[in-house]
Amino acid sequence: MFRTLLIANRGEIACRIMRTAQRLGIATVAVYSDADADATHVAMADKAFRIGPPSPRESYLNMDAILRAATASGAEAVHPGYGFLSENAEFAEACAAAGIAFVGPPAAAIRAMGLKDRAKALMAKAGVPIVPGYLGDDQSPEQLRKEADKIGYPVLIKAVAGGGGKGMRRVESAPKFAAALEGAKREAKSAFGEDKVLIEKYVTRPRHIEVQVFADAHGNAIHLFERDCSLQRRHQKVIEEAPAPGMSAAMRKSIGATAVKAAKAVNYVGAGTIEFITDASDGLRPDRIWFMEMNTRLQVEHPVTESITGADLVEWQLRVAAGEALPLKQNELHINGHAIEARLYAEDPQKGFLPSIGRLEWLRLPESVRVDTGVREGDAVTPFYDPMIAKVIARDATREGAAAKLAAALAQVEIAGLQTNNAFLIRALTHPEFVRGDVDTGFIDRHLSDLVPAATTPARSLQAAAQFIVSEHGNAGSSDPWSARDGFRLGARTRPAIEFAVDGERILVEVTDSASPERAVRLESGAIAVMDHGETIVVHPYDPFAAADALGAATDRIVTPMPGKIVQLLVKAGDIVKRGQPLAVLEAMKMEHTLSAPADDVIESVNVSAGDQVSEGTIVLRFARDKAA
Ligand code: ADP
Ligand code: ADP
Ligand code: MG
Repeated sequence: MFRTLLIANRGEIACRIMRTAQRLGIATVAVYSDADADATHVAMADKAFRIGPPSPRESYLNMDAILRAATASGAEAVHPGYGFLSENAEFAEACAAAGIAFVGPPAAAIRAMGLKDRAKALMAKAGVPIVPGYLGDDQSPEQLRKEADKIGYPVLIKAVAGGGGKGMRRVESAPKFAAALEGAKREAKSAFGEDKVLIEKYVTRPRHIEVQVFADAHGNAIHLFERDCSLQRRHQKVIEEAPAPGMSAAMRKSIGATAVKAAKAVNYVGAGTIEFITDASDGLRPDRIWFMEMNTRLQVEHPVTESITGADLVEWQLRVAAGEALPLKQNELHINGHAIEARLYAEDPQKGFLPSIGRLEWLRLPESVRVDTGVREGDAVTPFYDPMIAKVIARDATREGAAAKLAAALAQVEIAGLQTNNAFLIRALTHPEFVRGDVDTGFIDRHLSDLVPAATTPARSLQAAAQFIVSEHGNAGSSDPWSARDGFRLGARTRPAIEFAVDGERILVEVTDSASPERAVRLESGAIAVMDHGETIVVHPYDPFAAADALGAATDRIVTPMPGKIVQLLVKAGDIVKRGQPLAVLEAMKMEHTLSAPADDVIESVNVSAGDQVSEGTIVLRFARDKAA
């Protein structure tokens, strides 16, 4: 076994890999960008090397800097985690050339599976069923459109170099094809530097089912059963589970064998995932499941497989990379219960799930279940990297049990300082359709109004905030209530009352005697965050100065919610727009986000140009109506 391992990654996955390495007595080496100098993964490692500025291209994708750190630290192996360089064949070769083991498959296997079109062609040849579609080199919009017409709508346009759900567009009908193609290509070019696409039939009632495979260098190849990752938003996984609901033993055996065949066809070594798409309109059927792609790395959702099999997949990866045989044979592996994972993100469901940048001013994660995280209280979620805060994983004897346990664990999450999808996750896990196992990739969109209800401020949150403010005044010697700007009042009966600004209205809350069970904390902004059953409600003490500002700001402009690049401007000064109409497309964190009109209005001025790099809070355009009124 290796004595020293460098982890070429950051965040939760770097920490998770180090945990196993440390258990195996392997010394760990972290690498970090300037944005991560104080990150958990750096603190956890035995040694750490700076590799560059925050931008991934200059740090976590900087092969030279990482290899220099590996050499300087005497690392015998490099684990790439997922994302970044994990599926980069050139990096695997560069490691080998430097005499360092790459904890991953051979470069040739990465290459064979790296592009979706080539991988599909290869799999078809190996006798693995693939989704019908167009894999050709003729990339002219006319040809692609003709192929889409031939396949029949709906179709899916996919970047061949795609990953993480990016560079993908579903097209409902022929007239929408051209615009979708343009969007897919633009996103692909920016995320992967390559804009070739393929076209696939969009499968009816799709379920994403993937098989974990493992092979060693001694010719053994096995699978560790399947995961169902059908709960997705914009083709990105949100909740994953193992095993797949409704999977029969016979079908499991059949797709397991197909997955192993696929891995063997590329002489695979190490951990890999064969992703399938299935048409579940008549339940799961072995003749309605097709190969989609292979991910030649450890998958984000690997913990659910670990939870039901008891295997430590990172340990297996390290053993295989060190030349050992697989620790278990196929018939020694069994499914024990059911596991579900939820990805807890810093994002704002109320704002179309835009990543939410900021500081984790308060952070409490559950202790009753497995939590894989790479952040601590006080850390910032930056625009540079994936905004995942943690993966929370629960296992139980039954699926219902696991879902209930996970929802209960998430109800204990307390996060303030930025927005998260936690309450959304709890609603998804407790939704009757999910609990029944009735999952498909349309679930989230179909139930969006249940899963993301309109924001409200319950009276009990205001009460909790009011009590908190009173207790703050009681505790702090210098800040007496009379000089505070909190709308603090003493009534005639000396029962204190606090005034809040809720949806533009002033609300006076009289503090009652019964103590609120909710946790409340004061944010840097001066607002109070009230945390209750996994949900965080931010309430604002009434402040006449802020109220005047807010009134002025109303809805007379669109500002960028985060730094990024304006990739499309869809309106010009003088245009009449309808509520919800797309106005501009902002590319941030490698994804495109549409900025839409909050109300029917007229564009007064446009303040940016397509192609502009913009910082957070940049005024994109102004509306005329408020002024005229
Ligand atoms: P898949 O390739 O099937 O989407 P994963 O969900 O494991 O599999 O994620 C693929 C890659 O995309 C990972 O390497 C991960 O770093 C990245 N990724 C996943 N979700 C996001 C996201 N919300 N934003 C940016 N990158 C993401
Ligand atoms: P990525 O590399 O971004 O993970 P995938 O090819 O794995 O790309 O597709 C991502 C997701 O898009 C899948 O998990 C699935 O939900 C959906 N999807 C992909 N292909 C199809 C298809 N042909 N029909 C319906 N949904 C699909
Ligand atoms: Mg995929």
